[in-house]
Amino acid sequence: MDGSTRTATEESDGRADTAEGTEAITEDSEAIVECSNVTKRYERSGGGGWFSFGSGGEDDRPTVTALSDVSLTIEPGEFVGLSGPSGSGKSTLVHLLAGLDEPTEGTVMLAGQNVSSLSKRQLTRLRLERVGIVFQRFHLLPSLSARANVALPLVERGVGKRERRERASNLLERVGLGDRIGHRPGELSGGEQQRVAVARALAGDPLVVLADEPTGELDTETGAAVLDLLGDLADDRAVVLASHDGRALDRTDRVIRLLDGQVQDDGQVQDA
Ligand code: ADP
Repeated sequence: MDGSTRTATEESDGRADTAEGTEAITEDSEAIVECSNVTKRYERSGGGGWFSFGSGGEDDRPTVTALSDVSLTIEPGEFVGLSGPSGSGKSTLVHLLAGLDEPTEGTVMLAGQNVSSLSKRQLTRLRLERVGIVFQRFHLLPSLSARANVALPLVERGVGKRERRERASNLLERVGLGDRIGHRPGELSGGEQQRVAVARALAGDPLVVLADEPTGELDTETGAAVLDLLGDLADDRAVVLASHDGRALDRTDRVIRLLDGQVQDDGQVQDA
C-alpha cells in the first residue's frame, strides 16, 4: 500500500523538539504495544456512496474496513510475526502500531501512551524515541552516505554532529557494515541497503522495531541475514515482522494471523 513509501523521518514534523513534550512519554505499562478493540476504516475518495463493505457501513459514506475489532498485546523481548494474505490489514496495523496513523475506534497504547490522546508533536516525539521502522523498499536517501542515512533520525532528535557520527558508525558496525559507512545506497547491494535501514531504525534505541515485508525485495540468502539481524534485536525490545513469507515467519516466536482485518489467531498460548 501507499504507506510503504513513507519513512519515520518523512512522516515526522521534520524538526527537532527536544525541550518540550518529554514529560508526555512515560513507561507506565509493561506492554510495549497494546491494541484494544481497534477498528480502522478508510474513506474512499471520490466514491458515489454505492461501494461499502466490511463492518463500516453505519453511515452512507463509502468506506473500507481495513481492521475490525483488533485486540492484541506485544511485550518486550518478543519477536512477533504478523501474517495474512494481501489486503488483510498488515500494513494498516503496522502503521497504527508505529503511531503513523490513528484508529477510527478503539485504542492503541504505545509505550504506555494512548496515541489518540497525543498532539501531533508529541506523537512525532514518541515515534522518534520509541519506534524504529523498516520498510520493504529501504527508503534510504540516495545522496547521503550510509552513515548519514543512519544518523538522520538523530538530527531530528537534536543530537550533536559528533555523537551522531559515532552512534551511526557503531550501528553500522553492529549490522556488519563497518567497512561501508561512506558508501551511498547506490553503491550497496539490496541486502546491505536493508541492513543500513535496520541500523537507521535502531538509531533512537527504540522499544519496538516494526518491519513491513523487510525481505520482500531480497533474495533468500540475503533475506535470511536480515531476519537473523531482526531476531537478534528482540532482546529487551519487541520486533514485529509483517510478512506473507512463511520462511520469514518461521523465525519469529509468535505469529499473529490476520484475515479480512480481523485477528484469526494471536499466537498466544491460551490458558486451560
Ligand atoms: P496488507 O498490508 O495486509 O496487504 P493493507 O493494510 O495494506 O493490507 O490493506 C487493508 C485493506 O485496506 C485493503 O482492502 C486496502 O485496499 C485498504 N486500504 C489500505 N490503505 C488504504 C487507504 N489509504 N485508503 C483506502 N483503503 C485502504
